[in-house]
Amino acid sequence: MFNNDNMDSYQTLAERVLAGDPATASDARTILSSSDEDLLDLVAAASRLRREHFGNRVKVNYLVNLKSGLCPEDCGYCSQRLGSEADILKYSWLPKDEAKRQAEFGLAGGASRVCLVASGRGPSNRDVERVSGMVEEIKTSSPDVEVCACLGFLKDGQAQRLKDAGVDAYNHNLNTAESLYPDICTTHTFADRVDTVDKARGAGLSPCSGLIVGMGETDEQIIEAIESLKAVDSDSIPVNFLIPFDGTPLEGTWTLTPQHCLRILCAVRFLCPDRELRIAGGREMHLRTLQPLSLHVANSLFLGDYLTSEGQAAEEDLDMIVDGGFEIVGAESAERLRDELKAHRAAHQAAFAEVAPGDMKSDGTSAEAAKTASTLPCGKPLPTADQEADDSGVMIPTIRRRGAGTELTPNV
Ligand code: SF4
Repeated sequence: MFNNDNMDSYQTLAERVLAGDPATASDARTILSSSDEDLLDLVAAASRLRREHFGNRVKVNYLVNLKSGLCPEDCGYCSQRLGSEADILKYSWLPKDEAKRQAEFGLAGGASRVCLVASGRGPSNRDVERVSGMVEEIKTSSPDVEVCACLGFLKDGQAQRLKDAGVDAYNHNLNTAESLYPDICTTHTFADRVDTVDKARGAGLSPCSGLIVGMGETDEQIIEAIESLKAVDSDSIPVNFLIPFDGTPLEGTWTLTPQHCLRILCAVRFLCPDRELRIAGGREMHLRTLQPLSLHVANSLFLGDYLTSEGQAAEEDLDMIVDGGFEIVGAESAERLRDELKAHRAAHQAAFAEVAPGDMKSDGTSAEAAKTASTLPCGKPLPTADQEADDSGVMIPTIRRRGAGTELTPNV
């Protein structure tokens, strides 16, 4: 254990980890309880580990929600859960062509990994065949893309089928500490989640498993969850910050500060120095103006929108990457990519009237929107609406009304 009396101690810890002596739960405890005053020193030390393993590169990932809502599970954080009253888009499986089209939007925006996600407890064998067909189609036209599937609990043989179809990774988040799990979900257990990550890894899929923080967990439980992610050997660790949707049990739950979000990312980086660490859902509303700093600790993000809520405009994601002096994995120039995206956006804004997401019905359609969307010349995005803010200045989620499952082009 180190003490945090001065900035040298974080640097000393980084040097220790770089020399191959892993950080401990006790180190993570010190990190999570450190003061705001120490934050920049902590981030500077964590950034040494990030740069050692990932240089100045940011991996861009893109979510395609293949099937949205109507899930029989009761995960308390999820807008798609059983009994959720959140007014999200609800739709069944996207057709194969549409899944490919949506994936290509992400690739055009700089993504090197596409994450194909479906709500539900787990796929039937028929669903696995369906997704396998989509993956084969995507890989045929974009052979370099990494595909991650996220379909819920896997039954025997399903991971192998996905692997055979060309799937590279499987996402199944452990989400939180085992000790908190019964408070978060009653329809499955933490052990069920571990089992699916094990199945994915066993079939040769790269395990992607991460966290949702801000659900009332203690710092000890954050450490417990990170230790579990180490135990399942997660290759990539998305850290989600709770989006407390209205109409879910965690509605109104705001426990995080931007500073503590950074400390959590630093704790993950120190405990898992060589793993892809991704800033995921809720980063905008919880990290807020500290988001750009987080990229000095994390090395990966989701571009654009999330499964059921909207993220900041894709060009703001790219601005954050460029302004931080980072490059994008698989792209020749992050700056050129960003400038091209902005040029497309500007052209569209000049050419077409803005369609506010608030005008959309919950199935993502409106006569006027469909008319406008159908006239877009190159499939690039419509202007985005600004995120709303409540009276306390805390951002509230904007339900996704564009991209997959709608007639509108996505935020990329
Ligand atoms: S997290 Fe997945 S399994 Fe849980 S309710 Fe949401 S869609 Fe269903």
